[in-house]
Amino acid sequence: MIDFRSDTLTKPSMAMREAMMSAEVGDDVFNEDPSIHSLQNFAADMFGMEDALFCTSGTQTNQIAINVHTQPGGEVVCHWESHIYKYEGGGIAKNSGVSARLLDGDRGRITRESIANWMNPDDVHYPITQLVSLEDTANRGGGAIYDLNEIKKIKSWCVENALPLHLDGARLMNAMVATGNDIKEYASQFDSISLCLSKGLGAPVGSLLLGKKDFIKQARRVRKVFGGGMRQAGFIAAAGEYALKSNVERLVTDHENAKALEAEFVKKDWVKDVVSVMTNIVVVNLKQNDQRDLIINKFKEKGILCMAFGVGMLRFVTHLDVSSDEIARTIEAIKTI
Ligand SMILES: *Cc1c(COP(=O)(O)O)cnc(C)c1O
Repeated sequence: MIDFRSDTLTKPSMAMREAMMSAEVGDDVFNEDPSIHSLQNFAADMFGMEDALFCTSGTQTNQIAINVHTQPGGEVVCHWESHIYKYEGGGIAKNSGVSARLLDGDRGRITRESIANWMNPDDVHYPITQLVSLEDTANRGGGAIYDLNEIKKIKSWCVENALPLHLDGARLMNAMVATGNDIKEYASQFDSISLCLSKGLGAPVGSLLLGKKDFIKQARRVRKVFGGGMRQAGFIAAAGEYALKSNVERLVTDHENAKALEAEFVKKDWVKDVVSVMTNIVVVNLKQNDQRDLIINKFKEKGILCMAFGVGMLRFVTHLDVSSDEIARTIEAIKTI
């Protein structure tokens, strides 16, 4: 099967498994795992952030960040299709007692202007706005990338209003290789960043939370409360460090592959349009909504898996376990459907 359902489906390569096998480990709740320290230090350095914390998942890093930045009764501002709101099981309310101000915006991205328009005044009627959260790349936006200039405008507005700015950077490295932006300059705009190692970077488990020393100290406490204190997790941290060192530059290949699929999809008469590909996500809008499951099955019969992505929508995600040969075979398959 050629599996485009998600970039989380990758399996560790032999070289990654070897890095895992030879990892030195210790008890990380005691803060004594050398492989976890090594990953956290490497990532903090790479991003120019003070400190980092290795966590179980991107949901956990986002939820920890929200919990540290807010107080019950407060409000987080985010796009209405953002992962933190739509795909984290209501965790904003359940874990932190916070409500969400959901903004619209082009392809999963919000602007300084919309945030400024919706910030609550200091009035007893309103929840206190406590956090702004961005997603880059934006999954529901078909892997859309934020313009760094817009992020800088949002950041300056947050600074003026004493609001922390969080980044759900599950696929941040895809954005970085696509734009060529300086990682440290980019990261300096945020008070906290969540980065997934288990998506396009190809590690089996884990996400990193990055921020200031004091923030990470609080995050470590919340991670324990959320049940995410791990023991000899250096084995998986070693996979994560291998991924950060070896699998970033190659993301350009995934982006080229996604572009190649897009070029073929737009020729099909059953396709209404394709959300213009910016990174590794291809969202196909169908002419007839009721053909979605039929088309998914036709691909399946040809050994190709993709995902339903809403009404009349398909999602194909390229990743390191889809080879150029498999892309060529997929293009042939698209021609025959
Ligand atoms: C995958 C993803 C996450 C985190 O998901 P986990 O499965 O919990 O690691 C967060 N945000 C976005 C945008 C994602 O795509």
